[in-house]
Amino acid sequence: MNETGLVVARFRRHVLVEGSEGARYLCQLQNRKLRPVVGDQVRWRRENEEKGTVEAVDPRTSKLMRIDSRGQPETVAANLSQLVIVLAESPTPDWFLLDRYLIAGELGDLKITIVFNKLDLVDALPSAFEIYQILGYPVAPISVRELTGLEPLESAMVGERSVMIGQSGVGKSSLINALMGDALQKVGELSEKAGQGRHTTTTAVLHQLPRGGELIDSPGVRDYAPYIESTRGVQRGFREIIARSPDCRFDDCSHLAEPDCAVRAGLADGEIAPQRYESYKRLYELTESFQSRRG
Ligand code: GDP
Ligand code: ZN
Repeated sequence: MNETGLVVARFRRHVLVEGSEGARYLCQLQNRKLRPVVGDQVRWRRENEEKGTVEAVDPRTSKLMRIDSRGQPETVAANLSQLVIVLAESPTPDWFLLDRYLIAGELGDLKITIVFNKLDLVDALPSAFEIYQILGYPVAPISVRELTGLEPLESAMVGERSVMIGQSGVGKSSLINALMGDALQKVGELSEKAGQGRHTTTTAVLHQLPRGGELIDSPGVRDYAPYIESTRGVQRGFREIIARSPDCRFDDCSHLAEPDCAVRAGLADGEIAPQRYESYKRLYELTESFQSRRG
C-alpha cells in the first residue's frame, strides 16, 4: 500500500516528501515520466525511516508555469492558491512585469496580493497603485526594514498556499526571513539534510508559515517570466477587458483596431488606464508572434 504525501522540495532526481504524520522522506522517482514539483500531492512508498519512492503524482488543481532557459514551458509549482507579487520603491516598479504576473494569477485562478515594500523610503504608497486597487487587487504597503505593515499580509496568507514573486532586489528574501523568523530552513541546509550536498540546487521549497499557511519559495520562480499560451489567454488576464468585451461589436474583437470596440471606448473616456492598455497590446502582439511561429 502506498501513502499520500506532499512534495516540499524538489532536487534534480529526488524530491522531499512530507508524509501525513509530518516527517520528511527523501524519495526517488519510480520512473522517468514522473515530474513532481513542489506543492504536488503524490502517492509514495516508504522504504525505511528516511527514504521512499514516489509512484504517482495526483492531478493538479492549479499550477504555475514559466518559460525555461531553452524557451520551453515548465511547471514550477502546483496546487497553489495565491500569488504574492512584491514590488518596491527601488528597483523602480516595472508595471509591464506586474501586469504579466497578474495575468498568470488570473489564468491560474489564484488569489492575488500585491506588496509594495520599502515604504520607509517614501512618504506614501505611490499613486500608480490606485489603478490596481480600483481593479480589486489588494495592495499591502510594507517596510521589512522597519517591520511595518506586515500584519495584513500575514493575515492574507493564513489558509493559503502562496508563491512569492517579484524582481530581484525588491526585498523578497528579507520578507521571507521576517515572516518565517527562526522557523526558516535554508534551502542549502535542506539539501544537505536530504543527503543531496549543500550546493545541490533545489528548484523550490515549501515553508510552513508560523502564523499559518504555506509559502513556496523558489529562486526559479522569484523573477520568472510567466507563460501565456494564446492571445485568448492575454485577454482573459485583464479584468477590465473581460468586463467590457461583451459590448464590442465583434465576438472575437482583438480590441486593437476593430470598429465599435468597447475596450477602446473605455480607453478613450478614461475608464481604462493607458498603462494597462499598453501592456495588453504589447502582450497580445508578442503572444500572436509566438503563436504564428509555432504554426
Ligand atoms: P530580493 O532580491 O527580492 O530577495 O531582495 P533582498 O531581500 O535581497 O533585498 C534587497 C535589498 O533591499 C537589500 O539590501 C535589503 O536590505 C533591502 N531591503 C529589503 N527590505 C527593505 C525595506 O523595507 N526598506 C529598505 N530601505 N530596504 C530594504
Ligand atoms: Zn473590442
